[in-house]
Amino acid sequence: AVRPGDTVARLGGDEFAILVEDAAGFDEPTELAERLLACLDEPFELAGKTFVITASAGVVLSNPHDGPDELIRNADMAMYLAKREGKACVRRFEPALHHAALERLELEADLRRAVQRGEFVVHYQPMVELTTGCIAGFEALVRWQHPRRGLLEPSDFIPLAEETGIVVELGRWVLGEACARAQRWHERHGFEGSISVNLSARQLRDPGLVDDVAETLRELRLDPRRLTLEITETVLMDDDTAVDRLNALKALGVRLAIDDFGTGYSSLNYLRRLPVDIVKIDKVFVDGVAGDREAVGLINAILGMARALNLETVAEGVENGGQARRLKELGSAFVQGFYFAKPMAPDAAELFITTERTERTSSVR
Ligand code: C2E
Ligand code: CA
Ligand code: CA
Repeated sequence: AVRPGDTVARLGGDEFAILVEDAAGFDEPTELAERLLACLDEPFELAGKTFVITASAGVVLSNPHDGPDELIRNADMAMYLAKREGKACVRRFEPALHHAALERLELEADLRRAVQRGEFVVHYQPMVELTTGCIAGFEALVRWQHPRRGLLEPSDFIPLAEETGIVVELGRWVLGEACARAQRWHERHGFEGSISVNLSARQLRDPGLVDDVAETLRELRLDPRRLTLEITETVLMDDDTAVDRLNALKALGVRLAIDDFGTGYSSLNYLRRLPVDIVKIDKVFVDGVAGDREAVGLINAILGMARALNLETVAEGVENGGQARRLKELGSAFVQGFYFAKPMAPDAAELFITTERTERTSSVR
């Protein structure tokens, strides 16, 4: 469908680019794109079965101000727009695309490339055992070192990653990175603690998840018991295959935690049937624990429930010594929060393991 002078390239995965030189305007490349989509539209046979595939295309005109990167990104944005509009269509990139839509599309295009470009970093926040002051483990929390916007927090991009499915690839990367880090700390400093990785709803729906986890553990020779996967209760309520998948993960020997416990709607009966080991008590309950009786009552109820079901607990979002002391009195075994440490870059977390381990925690009397 292309002409002798056109350049066809594969950008990666299922993305291709065609460079049309000396086009007078949008018409020529648009017609070419439509011709291509029409070709792809033809059903074809594979192993005796008939298949149909479709493609979406974005068209951009070069201009003297834009470099190659910008050109490809703009073509990408037009292509995502085409994708969103439905099957097999062609969209042109116009600078007048609504600003907000443009921002989002730009972020999406950046996000798709960010994994390959190595722009994500994982920060680590310790979980501390209150009775001993020891570091029980670290939670891996992803950040995005965006080339123009600076360091972005998960709330700036996880929802979009989730919506677009990019979170599956991103999550796979975080898992490998965090497990490799835990193993390195083990080799260098004898670190025996756990590493917790957050799983999103989309990842739990991904049929490849269990194999990915198994593969990561095998490759890094990480003891499965040192890996904890955190899942929010709302995700668990969503569907039944989630429970099957949890059982499959559990069979690998990893530990499972319910994140943000108490903010969703899980019934206690449902909870009993889940193969979980840990509940992470949400910050909303911890906030009031130093003062108000209601908050104390609720924390006590959650701790009691956890004891009855033989689950460990981690109280999240501990910001001051008053809260830490109260939680210790109430019998909460593990805590996590800014009072002990904020999420830290890998080097800082490593230093924390070797130097600061008990300063804060031993002051919780
Ligand atoms: P989360 O799993 O509940 O993680 C705890 C969040 O609370 C983190 O925010 C952490 O920085 C923050 N935090 C910890 N201690 C305190 C405290 O004492 N006070 C306050 N105010 N906040 C505290 P962060 O890193 O911004 O992450 C937000 C959420 O993004 C996480 O909530 C998690 O749901 C999601 N997330 C982070 N990394 C990943 C990831 O790799 N994959 C997926 N799917 N989600 C992730
Ligand atoms: Ca978490
Ligand atoms: Ca949480």
